[in-house]
Amino acid sequence: MTKLKVVEIFRTVEGEGKWVGLPVSFIRLEGCNLRCPWCDTPYSYDGKSFQEIEIDSLVSEVEKIGLKRVCITGGEPFLTPQLPDLIKRLLEKNFTVLVETNGTLWIENIKAVINEKLFITCSPKPPSYFIHPELLPFITELKFVVDESLNISHIINEKTEKILENDFVVLQPESNRPEMVKKALDLQDQILKAGYESRIIPQCHKILGLP
Ligand code: SF4
Repeated sequence: MTKLKVVEIFRTVEGEGKWVGLPVSFIRLEGCNLRCPWCDTPYSYDGKSFQEIEIDSLVSEVEKIGLKRVCITGGEPFLTPQLPDLIKRLLEKNFTVLVETNGTLWIENIKAVINEKLFITCSPKPPSYFIHPELLPFITELKFVVDESLNISHIINEKTEKILENDFVVLQPESNRPEMVKKALDLQDQILKAGYESRIIPQCHKILGLP
């Protein structure tokens, strides 16, 4: 049986995006294809902070935590080829499954596990803010870190308009810095003028001192 590289499994309160405040189990998978300057989880891709765990054992660990909501994050979870198998197993166990991705990668077998209990949050990253075209139809939440490089064309463009029509975008001021809160307010106004809603949500787990 194949094993997955897992950095950590833990219970916390969702600190980002539209699920904020809800209890959730996290599975952090190893590896990332990007190197964002403000990344707060560099240990997720240092190549030494992981254990290799079989999917059955991983699902058992999450069951032991006792919550029905699980977030698969990284690093970048789409670097793990077994991601669709893990999602499938968790959905079979009736978990609500959240996946957080930088949106640059794609695994064809994800199509086979698309389900109303699977939610994919895409957080496009600078400098390109690239979103893989195959991923676009399955994104249920767009979340942007508001930093110096983000501008309105990264948020509203021909690729994201469909997502914005059906849902809202989350603006997350980088490191909760006051100047980025101000920028987020300005972007929120521009998004509103274009006819869409957005929510400014800080990294609440950091404010609360949670993992
Ligand atoms: S995509 Fe996420 S995990 Fe990867 S470097 Fe950027 S912030 Fe860190």
